Parts: sequence; C-alpha cells; structure tokens
Amino acid sequence: MVFRTYMDQALAEAEAASARGEVPVGAVLVSPAGEVVARAGNRTRELFDPTAHAEVLVIRAACEALGSERLPGYDLYVTLEPCPMCATVISAARIARLYYGASDPKSGGVAQGPRIFSHSQCHHVPEVYDGLSAAPAEALLKDFFAARR
Ligand SMILES: [Zn+2]
Repeated sequence: MVFRTYMDQALAEAEAASARGEVPVGAVLVSPAGEVVARAGNRTRELFDPTAHAEVLVIRAACEALGSERLPGYDLYVTLEPCPMCATVISAARIARLYYGASDPKSGGVAQGPRIFSHSQCHHVPEVYDGLSAAPAEALLKDFFAARR
C-alpha cells in the first residue's frame, strides 16, 4: 500500500480559516477506504462556539454522515497538535491514526501538557504521527499571529 498524505488538504483548510479571521488550523478525516469524508478549519469565531476546532468539526460531520458516534478505522490529519479537548474527542471517536503537523507548546495536549493519550483514563489510543508538513503549518500560524500584533 502506498502512503498518501492528506496534509495538503488540511493546510488548505488552515489557509481558508486564516482568511476568515480564524486561528489557522485545518483538519481532514479519511475513511478506511481512503476517501476524504470531511474537511474543516477552525470556526470558533464564526459559530460563537469555543469547541468549534477543526478536529471537532470533521469528527462531528463524519459521525453524522455515518450515523455513528464512533469512527473506527478512520484517520485524522490536522495541521497542529490537537489540544486536550480535541485529543479527548479523538479518543472517544476511536480514530485509528492521528497525523499532525506543528507541535503546540502553548495549548497542545498530545505530546505535551496533559498528554491525553498517555493518561490511564484514556480508553482508546490512536497511532500518532507528528511533524507532517510542520513547517508550512507553523508558518501559517506565525503569520496569522504576527498580523494581529
Ligand atoms: Zn482543539
């Protein structure tokens, strides 16, 4: 099987989020058959919803389409290390593999902070691959916050 990255699509979603004035984070959810079933960028400002992170939006959309609260065998691509909330949702949805780009020392919850997947109360741990397209994901965030200062 040839490994195919969907990070370019996640980056496009992050760019679109930035253009909307949202923190530039993008996510893509891929079915076990390799189909993109949902893609989104952050929409917390637009939806007045602090939980409207890209990861939550794609998981919600895919669960609704599938009629299931769980997505076993699905892969999630996200441009930034998920926060503790999103990591918890990823575990609850039984996502098989998590691919992320930039690490997030400030708000990340996977490799730092609460390290959700290492916690004894975490019932499902996805395979985690970090650093995919980290440089462009980081550049998007840096530019976004620089423009706001
Ligand atoms: Zn999050």
